Amino acid sequence: MVNPRDAAALVVDPEIRVITIDELGILRAVEEDPASGRVTVTITPTYTGCPAMDVIRADIRRALAAAGHADAEVRTVYSPPWSTDWISEGGRAKLAAAGIAPPEPVRAPGVVSLTLAVRCPQCGSPETEQVSRFGSTACKALWRCRSCSEPFDHLKAL
Ligand SMILES: [Zn+2]
Repeated sequence: MVNPRDAAALVVDPEIRVITIDELGILRAVEEDPASGRVTVTITPTYTGCPAMDVIRADIRRALAAAGHADAEVRTVYSPPWSTDWISEGGRAKLAAAGIAPPEPVRAPGVVSLTLAVRCPQCGSPETEQVSRFGSTACKALWRCRSCSEPFDHLKAL
């Protein structure tokens, strides 16, 4: 049997398929009841309005069933709220490699982070501009690089 934590950690985000839910910071806890062997997974949703959570729940249950843990329960907790700061260093590197500009660190609650520092994931130029608040999904904004004129997705800081 595969460790349930390892099995759940390999589930990828359905919208950003290069990054796992563990790297995104969505996966909060994986507990196995020693008596029954039943696994309970706790997740915290990312952006409100992201329709991906139902898919993630189903994917976690499927991954655990494949690892020998049938009938896993997936719980959703909203507190503390997910933040883009929970994305791991490895996750940020994967986002950049996939052409998605990772979110800038959120410095303090209530302080709007400067989006001027968004760098083009193609050429690294800071000469970028926001084209649309909404990219391919509600979680991402569409940006364009003024140096190489390539459009790219930017994961909004939260
Ligand atoms: Zn560029």
